Formats: sequence, C-alpha cells, structure tokens
Amino acid sequence: MPKPPLLMLVEQPDLFGLHHIGEHYDLRSQPAPGIVAAVSSGNGVDAAMMEAAPDLKMIALSVVGYDKVDVETARARGIAITNTPDVLTDDVADLAIGLMISVARRLPQQDLFVREGRWPLEGPPALARRASGRRIGILGLGRIGQAIARRAQPFATEIGYYSRQPRAEGKEYIYRDSPLALAEWADVLIVAVSGGPGTAGLVSHAVIEALGPDGTLINIARGSVVDEPAMIAALTDGRLGAAGLDVFAHEPNVPEALLRLENVALVPHQGSATRETRAAMGKLVLDNLAAFFAGKPLLTPI
Ligand code: NAP
Repeated sequence: MPKPPLLMLVEQPDLFGLHHIGEHYDLRSQPAPGIVAAVSSGNGVDAAMMEAAPDLKMIALSVVGYDKVDVETARARGIAITNTPDVLTDDVADLAIGLMISVARRLPQQDLFVREGRWPLEGPPALARRASGRRIGILGLGRIGQAIARRAQPFATEIGYYSRQPRAEGKEYIYRDSPLALAEWADVLIVAVSGGPGTAGLVSHAVIEALGPDGTLINIARGSVVDEPAMIAALTDGRLGAAGLDVFAHEPNVPEALLRLENVALVPHQGSATRETRAAMGKLVLDNLAAFFAGKPLLTPI
C-alpha cells in the first residue's frame, strides 16, 4: 500500500511489520489534527486519544479483542473500527493447550530443575499430573473457544462449555448454563471469552472455589475476566490446584505473589505472537486500511 499522508501508528508497529506505513504518535501527549486513520495493537484508543485526533475516521486494530477501545465514543463520532479475527485463532488455541500440558506436566518447573543442576544432586523431581483424561470446560465458545475444543478432544473424557446461550457449534459438547455450573463440572477450565465490562470478574471467587484443589484454570482471554486476587489466594493455600496464564489484570505487571508460586505456568501475553500470525494480522490491518482509503467496504469491521 502506498504510504498515506494521514495515517498514524499508536504503538508497537514493529511487532506487526507495520513500521513502514505511517508516523508513530503517543496520543496522550501529542495532539494529532489532520490524522484520519490510526493503527493500534494492545493499548487501544480511548476517548481522550480520539479527542487528540479530531479528524480521525478509522481505527485499524491489530488485535481481535477491542476491550481497550472506547467503541461508544467512536460510534458517536462516526469512526470506523476494524480488528483481526480468525487469523490468530489457531495460535491462541495452541497456546491454551500448551499451557494445559505445561501446568499438568510442570514443564517450566522441570526445565528449571535441569538448568539449576538439581537432577544429579536430588534425583528425579516430584511426580507431575496427567494432562489427559480430564473433563475440560471452555468458558466462551467463540472462534478461539471452538478451536480449543477441537484441540482438546484427544485430552478430554468430556468437553463442556458455557456461552450465554447454547450454540449450534457446541452440539457435540455438554452445555452448562453458568460459569459456576461449568466450574463445578470441570477439571480444567479454559477461559476464552471477550474482555471488557461485560465479562469482568466472570471467573469469580465462587467459580474458583468450585474448580477446587484438584482443578486447573487456564486463561488466554483477558486478565480482567478473572478475579486475580481471589485466584492468587486460592492458588497459595491450595483451594485451587494450578493455573496457566497468558494474560493478567495489570499487564505488563504481574503480582509478586504469583511469581513465587510453584503451581503456575506464566506467559507474557503471547497468544498470537508467532511470526506467521503477526504477519497475517499486519496484512489484514493493511487490507482494511487500503479498503478504507479506497472507499470500499472494510474487511473485518467490528
Ligand atoms: P469471539 O468469537 O467474538 O468469541 C467471544 C466469546 O466471548 C463468545 O463465546 C461470547 O459468548 C463470549 N462473550 C462475549 N461477551 C460475553 C459476556 N458478556 N458474557 C459471557 N460471554 C461473553 O472472539 P474470539 O476471536 O474467540 O476471541 C475471544 C477473546 O480472546 C478476545 O476477545 C480476546 O480478548 C482474547 N484473545 C486473547 C489473545 C491472547 O494473546 N492471549 C489473542 C487473541 C484473542 P456468546 O457465545 O455468549 O456470545
């Protein structure tokens, strides 16, 4: 795409191969009149940032979740928004299964055990748990939730899910009509719902208690979906068995207490972070921008 003069990049363009297409602005400290299109990844665009760019007409996100964008203000101002669904689904689902296996087989801890030279001194480490033969519950059977369910099949005795209504795509799986009912049933609960106010704290203290001392929580959705202090307290005193986490409430900061726990596997929000997928996300951003500047229908509007 030729470099349009009225385009800005809000943050992290290099991760998506997008550094060549426009100027980088920190809209919190830099007003940008004349800019009509913005590209943003994880940090999003809030109302104050839209205020700083009074001519803005398009926000092209290089993420699928748009919980960090003030969608209401954008709609009121006639600003179109696009995201990058589908192209990242496989990677995020792969990571969810990877975390499930890592937590059960204690892969991060085993790696550290070898690196620290403890094997010859202490002999083999404590036994891990089986990754297969579990009831796997998926919270949110959207695009990523469905991809997780397909991958989970060889590991699961049964697969269950919660969505606000039973979904046609879930007819092979067991439906539970609340997050609590799903957690009471599941051995492993994998969180795959959207973020934002509608799902904040959906994995509540009660849901965590229901999952229990033998239960595992996997979160590849958003940190806001889980009551993080309740999760950490339960992991610390054994009321929750284990957790595999790609996302946190206040990224990039991870609570100190979580870092000290043995029963967790931690990943720094890497769900879509492969070269292949980031290239595909960058291309979709460019295709949406090209459509916008050509006055054509946007490919993936939200
Ligand atoms: P999607 O197809 O839109 O699915 C969203 C799911 O969230 C649906 O199952 C939907 O349930 C559920 N949901 C939405 N609002 C809800 C509410 N208020 N209460 C209960 N459930 C609600 O999206 P997707 O492509 O699968 O992506 C899902 C999320 O994964 C994204 O929004 C993003 O936050 C996260 N994600 C994380 C990474 C990462 O790097 N870790 C990467 C990509 C995406 P219904 O069936 O009831 O509508």
